[in-house]
Amino acid sequence: MSFVYQVFMASHYDIIVIGAGAGGGTLAYALAPTGKSILLIERGDYLPREKANWDPDKIFIERRYQAQDEWLDAKMRPFNPETYYLVGGNTKLYGAALQRMRAEDFGEVRHAEGISPAWPFTYEMLEPYYTRAESLFKIHGQRGEDPTEPPMSVEYPYPAMPHEPRIQAIADHLATQGLHPLHLTLAVNRDVNNPRRSACIRCDTCDPYPCLVDAKCDAQTACVDPALTYDNVTLLTQTYVSRLITSATGDRVEKVEIQTPQGTDYLSADTVVTACGAINSAALLLRSANDHHPQGLANSSDQVGRNLMKHNHSALIAIAPTPNPTIFQKTLAIHDYYFNGPDQDYPLGQIQLTGKAKWQRLKKMAPTELPQHWLEYLSQHSVDWWLTTEDLPDPDNRVTLSRQGQIQVNFTPNNLKPHYELAGVLEQHLRQLGFYLFWHKTMELAVSWHQIGTCRMGFDPQNSVLDVNCRTHDIDNLYVVDASFFPSMGAMNPTLTIVANALRVADHLKSML
Ligand SMILES: Cc1cc2nc3c(=O)[nH]c(=O)nc-3n(C[C@H](O)[C@H](O)[C@H](O)COP(=O)(O)OP(=O)(O)OC[C@H]3O[C@@H](n4cnc5c(N)ncnc54)[C@H](O)[C@@H]3O)c2cc1C
Ligand code: SF4
Repeated sequence: MSFVYQVFMASHYDIIVIGAGAGGGTLAYALAPTGKSILLIERGDYLPREKANWDPDKIFIERRYQAQDEWLDAKMRPFNPETYYLVGGNTKLYGAALQRMRAEDFGEVRHAEGISPAWPFTYEMLEPYYTRAESLFKIHGQRGEDPTEPPMSVEYPYPAMPHEPRIQAIADHLATQGLHPLHLTLAVNRDVNNPRRSACIRCDTCDPYPCLVDAKCDAQTACVDPALTYDNVTLLTQTYVSRLITSATGDRVEKVEIQTPQGTDYLSADTVVTACGAINSAALLLRSANDHHPQGLANSSDQVGRNLMKHNHSALIAIAPTPNPTIFQKTLAIHDYYFNGPDQDYPLGQIQLTGKAKWQRLKKMAPTELPQHWLEYLSQHSVDWWLTTEDLPDPDNRVTLSRQGQIQVNFTPNNLKPHYELAGVLEQHLRQLGFYLFWHKTMELAVSWHQIGTCRMGFDPQNSVLDVNCRTHDIDNLYVVDASFFPSMGAMNPTLTIVANALRVADHLKSML
């Protein structure tokens, strides 16, 4: 069932899940068959299906679907974050590159600028959930190509999305240089052996656009929509959770305060799960401070909001004299420098292709103002890469609230040296293939796509917010099941791990119900 708020709704549920994105949507999906009454609350609405979904002017220039939210940076300067308040959350516009973290990422890893801390459990513990997550999101991939691939109990559910000729030629050349180019693992609903009958039409407006034909496996199509086929699951859209209110003793969440188009109201549940995304979940807990929890809910450790990470991200636009007529470009990745560089004994990160950059996107990347016809020429000749290097948890990189209650993101990037080295190494490889012009744009604070880590999981309540089941140490019936829980993030895209973890927490909750 899906509702905009109605006065005849029940006010008590077995479980309330706040946020219908990757974490919350997956949890609702996994718990739906239990028959328990589940309310999924989402501040946004369904993304409208309209031609604008695939219009680069609307996406890159008008920013049509971006949240109309204003956050503050460390110096109190307002900025508009690149985040999406929609059923499906940020996954509605994601690139659908879903990867497992590497087994080594779960242990302590030494980086150029510090230590990436170990998780409280190993890769092997999450492996069965990665397998389920890959099935749920219809992952396409090719096992055995990736030198950093962790042990997997099964093959990928679907064969890899093949490269188009220009990309295949680049992959072949890079292989002659000793690299191991691989097929990027992708969450799309396409039968590569029967394209005519496939939902996905393999178009040139996938990353970072919404999918007009609902063929991208995102949190709405893969999780929320199937969950809503169960009568015991209700979705409330356009409903902002403003506060969680605890019992007289402070050890349980008793009420969930909501703001609907009709005004303020209160709901309750035996179990409350926040899955608002790492920045908004921290903000909700901080906003909910009361006499029992003066620093915010679940914050006796003073860790809520701290250790925010977001990956060091850059676009590297590489231009060659050879035209690039590729339509669906996001098929190739290179993990050879994930654990160390050619001259570095520390990790550099991962390299993947991004969606084919049209001139409107290049306008954003260009180091200087360029006329449209130049941008169009460059777009026809560019191959567009996306580089990701792990950033490290720093307690001073934190989400706080201003006096007026506005979200403030205090963030200083770290571990940038290996990131720039990664860009330099890729450039050297590409120069040997005839690429002669490179634009390297490192993403700024507003690009909060991979926000994680604000309520980290751990054994010790003194320095973590969540226990290993993602239950808050401080409040018995409160869980956080979005990207907030990561103690460290590796350099792989985070969504598959968020989904796998939500499936894991769902198993824990089932055993408690
Ligand atoms: C353009 C783009 C490209 C990306 N590409 C990739 C990719 O290729 N691969 C990958 O792995 N990841 C990618 N990501 C990142 C991925 O989308 C996120 O990591 C993932 O969605 C995070 O899941 P989450 O559950 O933490 O939060 P979200 O999915 O963001 O869900 C949080 C939900 O909570 C809702 N909410 C927030 N506050 C409240 C409140 N107070 N009350 C009610 N509801 C609330 C939000 O509206 C949202 O729907 C991309 C992201 C973007 C933006
Ligand atoms: S490539 Fe496929 S999944 Fe991506 S937007 Fe196009 S139709 Fe949708």
